This record gives sequence, structure tokens and C-alpha cells, in this order.
Amino acid sequence: MSTWPLNEKPVLIFYETTRACPLACRHCRANAILKPLPNELMTQEAMKLIDDITGFGKPYPVLILTGGDPLMREDIFEIMDYAKSQGIPIALSPAVSTKLLNEDVLREIKGRVSSVSISLDGAEARTHNAIRKTALEPIDVFKTTLRVFDVFRAVGIPFQVNTAVMKMNVRELPRIFKIVHDHGATAWEVFFLIRVGRAMELEPLDPWESEDVVQFLYEASMYGVQVRTVEAPFFRRVIIQRNNGLSYRGMGLYEELTSELRKIMGEPPKNAKRPTFTPTRDGYGIIFISSEGNIYPSGFLPLYLGNVRKDNIVRVYREHPVLMRIREANFNGRCGICEFRSICGGSRARAYTELNDPFGEDPACVYKPTPNPQPTP
Ligand code: SF4
Repeated sequence: MSTWPLNEKPVLIFYETTRACPLACRHCRANAILKPLPNELMTQEAMKLIDDITGFGKPYPVLILTGGDPLMREDIFEIMDYAKSQGIPIALSPAVSTKLLNEDVLREIKGRVSSVSISLDGAEARTHNAIRKTALEPIDVFKTTLRVFDVFRAVGIPFQVNTAVMKMNVRELPRIFKIVHDHGATAWEVFFLIRVGRAMELEPLDPWESEDVVQFLYEASMYGVQVRTVEAPFFRRVIIQRNNGLSYRGMGLYEELTSELRKIMGEPPKNAKRPTFTPTRDGYGIIFISSEGNIYPSGFLPLYLGNVRKDNIVRVYREHPVLMRIREANFNGRCGICEFRSICGGSRARAYTELNDPFGEDPACVYKPTPNPQPTP
């Protein structure tokens, strides 16, 4: 992955196929609703987008079909099949529901996608169900989610688990990780809240809690599951610091999470591989297309760059001045002078939401860059 030409093409293209969703999660970025918006890209327009994506050249980026719930679209398998026929790898990010994500559908999905991501925001039903509310069917989303993990495993579909971390579930992270690990997920992706959409009502971690959590995630990544963060790219700074032998004492939260992790998981294997990462960030290696075709640097950074109905996604990705500045790591504040800026660069979405400056420093990072820094390896 280190040779992937991030300036030329993204690694991941997120396509929000619809805003319709059977769930009404409390942190939903998309403010998902029960019925689709009238202006969603139609089947032919989605296929034209796929044609445009082939303009990036092989190997193609992974097209992540997200939502809302992509399974709410009647033509979703048609779209998948068309992308597959063009040689574009697909990942799917469905919502958990018994009507749409049942065993028959999972068997349909198998063979069409390279992986699936499913959300788990609590280690117990009370927390998870309080965050992931159903709007359509009265189901225990937590129990259904665990059952879906088992079916993925039985059917042989690789899956990753996504967890949105906030004040109300942070202390459950070790037990969530154990569920992720024991169910055979390939990766655990931890989302740090950005106050957009319905997440405005929730309480994000403060900067020192965020630091404690990314330091804890370093420990969790020693147990054979790939751990990644979304909107906390300073996890990469931590990976470099810890891989280079820098220890971390932390605040009480770090101690609490790490000792619970050791208690329930035991010591990590002696030959544990040290974590690695790809230095993507919003708009650099990642691009997002909304259900109406708007192009944004990411789903959490609603900075309009164009619309796929009239603009070519390849040209926008390669030439838009906002994206060029993001990929140059030309930032303001601490992120602008930080020696980790080319591999981290801070969350552009958080800088935009909190400071109204998409190039500003990431307010969730506690790091104080040293003057005249040496470049990072
Ligand atoms: S100051 Fe900015 S670039 Fe440096 S580690 Fe923190 S978020 Fe990353």
C-alpha cells in the first residue's frame, strides 16, 4: 500500500447510495431517514459514476457502498454487479435489520463484495441499543448484530467492525474489542465523533481522553486484529512514537482501559506484529460522494467540491485546490508545524466543524510539536 499513488487516486471511495435507513442512530452523520431523498442518483447515474471511477486506472480504488442503508436501494445488487463487471472492488456498509440483512441476503452479498462493515457501539445491549435505535422494526439490535457476525463467519464473508467512541461508551472499549476479536473480524475501526448530523447531541471525548484511547488502541492492536481510527489520525503519531520505544503513562482512563484489556484478553502474543498504517486523511486517499452526487473530502467534511452529475470524479480528486492543499499537508496552527503532519495532518473534519477552518489544527490532539522538527520516517 505504501506505493499507492495517493496524489493520483484514492484508496477508498465512499458512495452514500441512499440516506434511507431502518435505524435512527444517535450519532448518524447522514441524518438518515426512513424514505430516500428525491434527488438521489438514479441507477444509470450510479453506473456512470462507476464508469468515471475506472478513469483512475487499475488497480482501482475500493468502492464502499454506504448509506443510510445501501440495502434500502432496490437496485443495489445491480449497482454491485456493474461495478464488479468493471473490475472495481466493492465493500458494503449495511445497517443491521432482520428484514434486509438476513441470511439469504448475506448469501447474495457473498461473492460480490470483498468485505462488509458492521457497527457495534456497546459491549452490552443497553448501551448499543441506546445508541443504535431502530426506526422500522422492534428488534434487539445488539443481539441481532452478534448473530450477523456469526452468520458472516459461517457464510465466509470477511467483515470489519466499526465503533463510534464517545463519553457514554468509552469504558466498554476493551469488552467491545473482545467481541470483535472473538467473532473473527478482520479489522476494528474506531470513529471519533465529529459534531455533524445527529452527533450534535452526543458528548465527544475531550482531548486527553482521546489521547488515552488512541494509546489504548495501540495496545489492542497487539492481539492480531487490525485497528484503525476514523477522524483521529493522530493514532499514527502514537504508532510511530510507541514503535520507536516511547512509553506512555497516561491519565486514569488509559490505565483503566489497558488493565481491563489485559484482564480479559491476557498478555498479547510475544511475536505480536507492530501496527502499521496508510497515511490517508479526508480528501487524501479518501473521497466521498453523497446520495445526491455531491463530492466531499469525506462524509464528515461537507465541503462541496463538485457533483458527479456534471463533474468528473477523477479530475476533481486530482485538481481541486482544496484537495491539493490537503495533500501538501499545508495546515494552520499546530498541525502546520508538526513533524507528523505528512502522515497524520489532523482531522480536517474536526478542524472545519470546531474552528470553521478546514486547514486548521485538530482540536482533539494534545501533541505540542517541537520547533524545527525533523521529518517523520
Ligand atoms: S498536531 Fe496535528 S499533525 Fe501533529 S500529531 Fe497532532 S493532529 Fe497530527
